[in-house]
Amino acid sequence: MSLIYENIVSVNNRITAIAIQCGRNPQDIVLVAITKKQPLEKISEAISLGIEHIGENRVQEAISKLPLLQRQPPFFHFVGHLQTNKVKALLRLKPCLIHSVDSLHLAECISDAALNENYIQDILLQINTTQETQKSGFSPSEIVNSLHKISELKGIAVKGLMTMGRFTDNPEDNRPYFRALKHLAAKLDSAEISNIEMNLLSMGMTDDFEIAIAEGATHLRIGTAIFGPRTEGVL
Ligand SMILES: *Cc1c(COP(=O)(O)O)cnc(C)c1O
Repeated sequence: MSLIYENIVSVNNRITAIAIQCGRNPQDIVLVAITKKQPLEKISEAISLGIEHIGENRVQEAISKLPLLQRQPPFFHFVGHLQTNKVKALLRLKPCLIHSVDSLHLAECISDAALNENYIQDILLQINTTQETQKSGFSPSEIVNSLHKISELKGIAVKGLMTMGRFTDNPEDNRPYFRALKHLAAKLDSAEISNIEMNLLSMGMTDDFEIAIAEGATHLRIGTAIFGPRTEGVL
């Protein structure tokens, strides 16, 4: 059996085990395979092995790679920092979910572009739970103030929140950030703002996804554990 096959089985087994241990239904957890900087053959293989959700973090890379895949993934996610001048190009790729909406201005641009195409784009709001300056995302206090304005945007539907933990040797270090995201979602949800849902929590990567599941993640973004190390210049 191929390495990718073994990796997918192993990741799925770990997701199932920890979910059951936490009293959660494994079916409620979506595995988004992060394909950035991975070669086309590996991505095509993962899709043929049943991976349904793939995620990219750069618009240009997604535009170059997606059409070349042998089989199109049923669901394409966008997870990276999005420049407003790339929004139109991204929407042409029909992302099922944009995880990384990190400013009111970006939310407005996506809404306008989606309305132009007569549809409503599902999005998550990225929260900078670690408060690191190099990371993008709303600060937890900022989002409370921006949420009403975001709720008025007719071309987007907010489905929940996304965050990234810190780079650390000990995944336990990220538990407080994941827990904070869940608490923030509950708080925003209780405000009962129209057009704002808080059912999805995108958190957990290769090194910390088990902790994220325990803290309530609905969407895991996993690259290395499925595809192995990334390579520069795959295209
Ligand atoms: C690259 C990336 C991931 C996946 O990282 P791995 O550690 O390889 O699992 C997840 N989320 C985002 C936003 C990424 O850019």
